[in-house]
Amino acid sequence: MSKLSTIQTFLQEKGAEVAIISSPTTINYLTGYYGDPHERQQFLFVFSDKDPILFLPQLDQVRASQILSFPVIGYLDSENPWEKIKAILPVKGTGPIYAEFDNLNLTKFNGLKTVFSGDFKDLTPTINHMKLIKSEDEIKKMLVAGDFADKAVQVGFDAISLEATELDIIAKIEYEMKKQGVDKMSFETMVLTGDNAANPHGIPGMNRIENNALLLFDLGVETLGYTSDMTRTVAVGRPDAFKKDIYAICLEAQLTAQDFVKPGVTAAEVDQAARHVIEKAGYGNYFNHRLGHGLGMEVHEFPSIAAGNDLVIEEGMCFSIEPGIYIPGKVGVRIEDCGYVTKEGFQPFTKTSKELLYY
Ligand code: MN
Ligand code: MN
Repeated sequence: MSKLSTIQTFLQEKGAEVAIISSPTTINYLTGYYGDPHERQQFLFVFSDKDPILFLPQLDQVRASQILSFPVIGYLDSENPWEKIKAILPVKGTGPIYAEFDNLNLTKFNGLKTVFSGDFKDLTPTINHMKLIKSEDEIKKMLVAGDFADKAVQVGFDAISLEATELDIIAKIEYEMKKQGVDKMSFETMVLTGDNAANPHGIPGMNRIENNALLLFDLGVETLGYTSDMTRTVAVGRPDAFKKDIYAICLEAQLTAQDFVKPGVTAAEVDQAARHVIEKAGYGNYFNHRLGHGLGMEVHEFPSIAAGNDLVIEEGMCFSIEPGIYIPGKVGVRIEDCGYVTKEGFQPFTKTSKELLYY
């Protein structure tokens, strides 16, 4: 069944006429067309028993029409989008309206309310649920994105020098990825040296790479519409035994959780598998975030691998396993692989060694 027909069946079950999709990523997920309307209006209207309509800025109409086999209707900057939607709509819009609450700002919501008089209901949970289990084709694309992340982190390793700044290394990584045809990085690349790595959301800057310290790389790419995300921490020079111990504990936590994953365990149990290792070593307070997050077309999706989430892990789910230990002023380590779940367990998208590497 196509993804659009899944939405249509959902609408029929709910006795609703129309779903309004506003997230460009969700429109891409459902139809294969991606366009960012910026501050203009773009909506995919999916009807329970009629062809969908994509409504968008006129300047994107030609490209969208070439990709899609259903009506694409553009509006000019000189036109009022809400009046135009009202004029083209094949339904009255008086029944329940399913919309992506996580993506509607007040301007869009107020505009849509001039067109639709029915009750607005949230489509976001349904969309999140659809995205939760990846198809073979999606997993193939995520393996490609993972392969590029492995290449990117190697470019970073090769650029390590005591003369370089964090930003120098980031520039080399991103330049090389663009040259290899990657659309973009999936988030701001992080290269963090010494104390800066001890901040789980540290910001890279003009800091020179510290000697006898750990250096953290967190990066990912977006290619073929899918993302990757990985973290490696390496040694520069001769870090002391304490730093190496912290690294070993983090690695044990990461591998323990990875081995623990299989269909039937819960997300909370996966988090606990890693957390137990770090707590037992006495550093539980320094692992102050969830173990992982889902990813796919976006770098953060469901499921959340966290305490309190009793979601049962199934084949085809994709998520990160990324324990970290951050001791302010002393050391920061995070090790992250994303992967997919099979009958046998967790298969990482990224393959770069996790033994402590020395530069
Ligand atoms: Mn991550
Ligand atoms: Mn990451």
